[in-house]
Amino acid sequence: MEFKDLKKQYLNNKDRIDEAIKKVIDKTDFINGQEVVDLEQRLAQYVGVKYCITCANGTDALSMVLANWKIGIGDAVFVPDFTFFATAEAVSYVGATPVFVDVNEETFNMDPLDLERKISFIENKNELKPKVVIPVDLFGLLADYNSIEKIAKKHNLLVLEDGAQGFGAEFNGRKACSFGNAAITSFFPAKPLGCYGDGGAIFTNDNELASLIKSYKFHGKGENKYDNVMIGVNSRLDTLQAAILNVKLSMLIDYELDATNEIYKKYCERIRKFVKVPFIPNGYKSSFAQYTIKLKSREERDSLKKYLDENNIPSMIYYPKSMHQQKVYSELNIKDKDYPVSSKLCNISLSIPMHPYISDLDIKKVEETIKKFMHYNKFIEI
Ligand SMILES: *Cc1c(COP(=O)(O)O)cnc(C)c1O
Repeated sequence: MEFKDLKKQYLNNKDRIDEAIKKVIDKTDFINGQEVVDLEQRLAQYVGVKYCITCANGTDALSMVLANWKIGIGDAVFVPDFTFFATAEAVSYVGATPVFVDVNEETFNMDPLDLERKISFIENKNELKPKVVIPVDLFGLLADYNSIEKIAKKHNLLVLEDGAQGFGAEFNGRKACSFGNAAITSFFPAKPLGCYGDGGAIFTNDNELASLIKSYKFHGKGENKYDNVMIGVNSRLDTLQAAILNVKLSMLIDYELDATNEIYKKYCERIRKFVKVPFIPNGYKSSFAQYTIKLKSREERDSLKKYLDENNIPSMIYYPKSMHQQKVYSELNIKDKDYPVSSKLCNISLSIPMHPYISDLDIKKVEETIKKFMHYNKFIEI
């Protein structure tokens, strides 16, 4: 059993993917080929925004938006305490200070009440200028944008949606990567829409931001590559990756999203007696970057993980440490007691195999193994 079965996904669509790759090689059109232009158009249309600009990875996408908003030294950027490190890293990379916000225990996403609290704290302290909030669509579930956008408006903050794990998700029919003033996603292989290497994209309706980033990602080009109007970076998506993504985008839309949502339902029916299953609020549709269960204690989580390992069922701890617990941020001197929820989630969360190609037999095996574990360990009576 695989945690994410990229091999099975490839074999399922081998002919189309191989053909797309071969076409690029035949044309030797490796940078800025037609496939990149096509992909950007399709992604913008699918998400429902004016511009999609592809780039080298999701981390670049985050820092490029922040840099072009002129976020830097002395600015505060609010990020969830429970996320992949890149969300906070991009903030530090442009010289700004990440301010961590605790999350909601049910959804794993940024808690709007704590966001209010942390904004007031920064405003009262009056050392940093509050500028941006970066909600993350963790594990494929959209953050609470209704509440967060209201708070951001009240405090005059820009909103940057980190949709690295959320591509394909929806809230009341509105797609991930269409929220906030700009959004980003990642095409890292294991994300809901993954390529065969690194890749990322920025989404926005903002004409000015879009034209700045189109120049910035290309050495700050003006009329052309040899006319430079600002200091930028080199951050592009290869034509080969775009060609693969064009096929994989169709797969995602045509059946993968439905398949993962079916598997979600099956898992929930079968294991909710034993563990806390993911909570998807009304009106939300997740793209299930992860299927993350919660146990009652660290001891229970760690021993279940060990038992799954022994039974050849892969599982992952997302995340063993939250942002404020990272060594690199130890100088901020933040205590666990200020982040009770994220500190707890690090101890009790466990992600189990989840991808569109998981078989009924594998789901059954996961169910049986969790059941046996609970019985054997008397964590519950059966
Ligand atoms: C993966 C990820 C990123 C970074 O994407 P890369 O393409 O790996 O640079 C950023 N934010 C979150 C929440 C992620 O999961």
